[in-house]
Amino acid sequence: MNYELIRKDFPILTKTIYGKYPLVYLDNAATTQKPRQVVEAMTEEYYNVNANVHRGVHFLSQQATELHEGSRETVRKFLNARSASEIVFTRGTTESINLVAQCFSDAFMKEGDEVIVSEMEHHSNIVSWQLQQQRKGIRLRVIPITDDGQLRLDEYEKLFTDRTRIVSVTHVSNVLGTVNPVKEIIRIAHEHGIPVLIDGAQSTPHMKVDVQELDCDFFAFSGHKIYGPTGIGVLYGKEEMLEKLPPYMGGGEMIKNVTFERTTFNELPFKFEAGTPDYVASTGLARALDYVSSVGLDAIEAYERDLTAYAIQRMGEIEDMKIFGPADVSIHDAVISFQVGNIHHLDMGTLLDRLGIAVRTGHHCAEPLMHRLGIEGTCRASFAMYNTREEVDALVAAIKRVRQMF
Ligand code: PMP
Repeated sequence: MNYELIRKDFPILTKTIYGKYPLVYLDNAATTQKPRQVVEAMTEEYYNVNANVHRGVHFLSQQATELHEGSRETVRKFLNARSASEIVFTRGTTESINLVAQCFSDAFMKEGDEVIVSEMEHHSNIVSWQLQQQRKGIRLRVIPITDDGQLRLDEYEKLFTDRTRIVSVTHVSNVLGTVNPVKEIIRIAHEHGIPVLIDGAQSTPHMKVDVQELDCDFFAFSGHKIYGPTGIGVLYGKEEMLEKLPPYMGGGEMIKNVTFERTTFNELPFKFEAGTPDYVASTGLARALDYVSSVGLDAIEAYERDLTAYAIQRMGEIEDMKIFGPADVSIHDAVISFQVGNIHHLDMGTLLDRLGIAVRTGHHCAEPLMHRLGIEGTCRASFAMYNTREEVDALVAAIKRVRQMF
């Protein structure tokens, strides 16, 4: 993988920060930067194609519809879904999970029924279910983690009861970098006849995902974390599952016929896509997936794993350094949460910023995980395919400087 060529496609990476420092962008788990190919495709569409999609008889509307539905097909191929009708465009992972939590619990859950989540979930995969707890009295059961941030599969198996209705877990932790054994998690759930939603926000940018191979029932991811635009994401659902769910929101696009007495709903996936979709963002997402596919996810994964292992090793040289998550780099994805002595994560992050290095600080939308780890927050460096060993060296040098200041 030629990261030098790749970096040329991301103009923001040449930006200087505070007038003198070159940007070292290590906040990719929050959002990735965008290559020219994505931004230019969207600009081109706004300038030359823009028209509302579906049911338009005029030229531009048909062209815009072709682009939008072509993008759906690109997503289908990217995930290896069986059919494009299994690909629902949403605003992102959060909306995808909320859609499943609401529609699935409406269709299949009553008071006292249970969803299994894990201790390392992002708030979006906790609060969406808690809203259903309030609406319908469903209950959350939680898979605990080990001290080095791995799911306890022995405990997971014990959580199944005759009230379990769905399992909803993350593929990769946005705090610990843990790559969860989701195939095994899905297999165990299916043995109990229970469907599984996988939160793929942090896996899709870094590794090949094949939804048929995983055999997950639902899979969610966000465009902006995989070099695509903000405001668009995907919910994959097995057709037979999506067919059984009621619509999420009401409005245009999602209906077949409407009278004041009775409305019939559109076929999949449009039943879940009320209102004008972000058809320009879908183009951006498709170009981002094309970009990732042209580099190759196997090459990206190998490059980033090597970079992460290098970073863990180099950061380990720093005195008082604590790195969270698995020590085994084969299950530690491109996210490194750390803490140096008793330097507050906010102080560390702010000073690193002054040294031109962008990291994230705080609870990373995973407060229950922070409670489990007995901390308030961490500093988090997260990598993308355009990051380099030189940037890791810059991070290590900067952390050492900050440490000396305290
Ligand atoms: N799940 C995980 C694991 C995440 O890392 C994130 C984003 N930080 C989300 C869900 C939510 O994604 P979005 O904000 O794009 O909806």
